[in-house]
Amino acid sequence: MSETGMREIDRESAFYTFKRCPYCYTHLKLAADHCVECRKKVGPVDKLGLARKPFNTKAYTAALLWIALIALYIWKGIDFWQAIQSFIWNYFKN
Ligand SMILES: [Zn+2]
Repeated sequence: MSETGMREIDRESAFYTFKRCPYCYTHLKLAADHCVECRKKVGPVDKLGLARKPFNTKAYTAALLWIALIALYIWKGIDFWQAIQSFIWNYFKN
């Protein structure tokens, strides 16, 4: 992160004495990394006094995996269709 970005976060944090859970709106300490009510992970405070939702690596990976699977399906699916066509073509040719 750039120095300017770090300073901006510091300034925002200094403005608030608490933050709110982005999932259930419970008031939390600024330093809290978990919500005391819903137990979800929370990030640093944003401009609205809400805790940022931390980057969800698991969901991101799952989404990427699905895109890869769909791409593979389209790619291999076309291959499969061409194999059937050539099979039918050869079947009637003989
Ligand atoms: Zn919560």
